[in-house]
Amino acid sequence: MNYQIAAIPGDGIGPEVTKQALRVLLSVGDVFGHTFTIHNYPAGGIAIDETGECLPISTVDGCNVADAVLLGAVGGDKWDSQPRENRPETALLGLRKALGLYANIRPAIMFDELADACPLKPEFVAGGLDLVVVRELTGGIYFGEKGTKQTPMGLAGYDIEIYAEEEVRRIGRVAFEMAMKRDKKVTSVDKANVLESSRLWRRVMEEVALEYPEVVLSHLYVDNAAMQLVIHPKQFDVIVTGNMFGDILSDEASMITGSIGMLPSASLADKGFGLYEPVHGSAPDIAGLNVANPMAAILSVAMMLKYSFGLTEEADSVTSAVKEVLSMGYRTTDLIRTPSDLNEETEQKILGTLEMGSLIAARIKRNI
Ligand code: NAD
Repeated sequence: MNYQIAAIPGDGIGPEVTKQALRVLLSVGDVFGHTFTIHNYPAGGIAIDETGECLPISTVDGCNVADAVLLGAVGGDKWDSQPRENRPETALLGLRKALGLYANIRPAIMFDELADACPLKPEFVAGGLDLVVVRELTGGIYFGEKGTKQTPMGLAGYDIEIYAEEEVRRIGRVAFEMAMKRDKKVTSVDKANVLESSRLWRRVMEEVALEYPEVVLSHLYVDNAAMQLVIHPKQFDVIVTGNMFGDILSDEASMITGSIGMLPSASLADKGFGLYEPVHGSAPDIAGLNVANPMAAILSVAMMLKYSFGLTEEADSVTSAVKEVLSMGYRTTDLIRTPSDLNEETEQKILGTLEMGSLIAARIKRNI
């Protein structure tokens, strides 16, 4: 098969990790007989420098005709003085809206090899951790009416949380479909004890659950969900929630697994189209030093292969290659927790961004 990939490397470490992820994708193509044609587009700070706009229309157009999008990261101090509507991060919101990416999928999987990096007590995560947060991405408070108005207490700012039934239904179906391929458990997170929008969310989730009798639906208030994630994370299979709660809970869930450099994500539209990106930002503090961990970007490629192209074996080959290099003891510096982890042997196994990418790309193979 021939697939058209729009690549948006972005700023900071974005280009470094994207380059390695694309090498791995091309290696998958070689091994499995697919052609991936890469088209590069600017967005974020680099796009401001090149065109004056954080999200040029040519980038949106390029993504719209691609089969999937791979994004690195955007942002950096250099562009902090830009007006809000032209900040690098605004490009991300613009892309989500323009491409109809309403479902954000963030797996939180703990690799056995990195169990030491988990900040929780070992007994809380014994036997590993594998949950996924499904976050609604184009509605809720981030996109509701916002503004300021005069009140007796002075100037007030407001942002309205608003969800329509169909918005809840479609994200609910994404979560239930995912649960059907996993452990058949969905936890819907809301604040239905105080918010009207959450009461509607909960009712629609109950309706969606009727379409999936095999899946067990439970509800948690967001404050309890935040607590349960750190005291009993293994109870979760699929968590589905709105835009703001999902923003916070997905960061919390992912950090349980250890390094931010290991975490991929997918933002999906209808009909399998998706944008794939590492969870981390542009990390200006380490940009250009060849020390960034490329594995989150590489695992984002695995998600692309699985969710946009249905290439499960190819996706598994990427995850297996990552596991293989980890089990051989290779690490990027972010995965070294304490100086006591270092000795002569382990020091030799600390790799740069490029070297880690090479090693993983070379280990892509068919599971014969
Ligand atoms: P960050 O994720 O860029 O960095 C946080 C810390 O994690 C830093 O110490 C960084 O060195 C480290 N880190 C991040 N990714 C790493 C990797 N792959 N390997 C090793 N270490 C890694 O978050 P931040 O510092 O809050 O934000 C920096 C910039 O990125 C800001 O401009 C922010 O707006 C932007 N940002 C962009 C995205 C995105 O593009 N999706 C997401 C978050 C933040």
